[in-house]
Amino acid sequence: MRKHIVAGNWKMNTTVPEGVELAKAVVAKSAEVPADVKLIIATPFTHLYPVNEVVKGSAVGLSAENCADKEKGAYTGEVSVSMLTSTGCEYTILGHSERRQYYGETDEKLVEKTRLAIAAGLQVILCVGENLDEREAGKHFEVVGAQTRNVLGNFTAEDMAKIIIAYEPVWAIGTGKTATADQAEEIHAYIRGILKDMFGAQVADDTTILYGGSCKPSNAGELFAKPDIDGGLIGGAALKAEDFIGIALSF
Ligand code: PEP
Repeated sequence: MRKHIVAGNWKMNTTVPEGVELAKAVVAKSAEVPADVKLIIATPFTHLYPVNEVVKGSAVGLSAENCADKEKGAYTGEVSVSMLTSTGCEYTILGHSERRQYYGETDEKLVEKTRLAIAAGLQVILCVGENLDEREAGKHFEVVGAQTRNVLGNFTAEDMAKIIIAYEPVWAIGTGKTATADQAEEIHAYIRGILKDMFGAQVADDTTILYGGSCKPSNAGELFAKPDIDGGLIGGAALKAEDFIGIALSF
């Protein structure tokens, strides 16, 4: 059975002490959230170890925002999957549009990163989504379909138990412009159809597909009411514990 998940992506925000305080506030409020909604916070690498000290033993999961596409060695500045698991972190976001856009993340690199992450026992939150030009040109299905197939075509039905998909239209990220619930649902249903083609009906039904892009307490309820939207990947609103928890209470 797929899960309801609300995952916060802190991006490059907060110092370590600020992040620890935010994590404490999320853990304190997490008791309000029904047990069938999984909360995850994705923090900068520097925060993972101290934030894990805060979340361990609670219902809040911990995620990285990226990982290296190499196992170990002379790759200055990179952070490997074994470094991530050694902090206590259990998930990593991969393929966020900001990494694709600013850091040259390709589908090929994402295959390597996903392979390493799964082998290390991490769960992957794999992001896909079209930009504004692609949406306006009516190419959103094509773009999202290609991103999904290019990466997942290298994995098995068994691997899919470790993969969560996040559909994030780039034009809705940090812009205050949310995709309507109907716009989001039609892409989510399309992605689920691709999963059915690739891996069969069971995997398609069991895979969690999150929506991301200016999701907040005021619009989360309408989005989460859609049959193929299983939760959210939250940027800006994840930096306030009250808003983040408010979103999780929207199911
Ligand atoms: C994100 O970056 O994953 C995101 C969804 O950001 P925001 O909620 O701020 O649009």
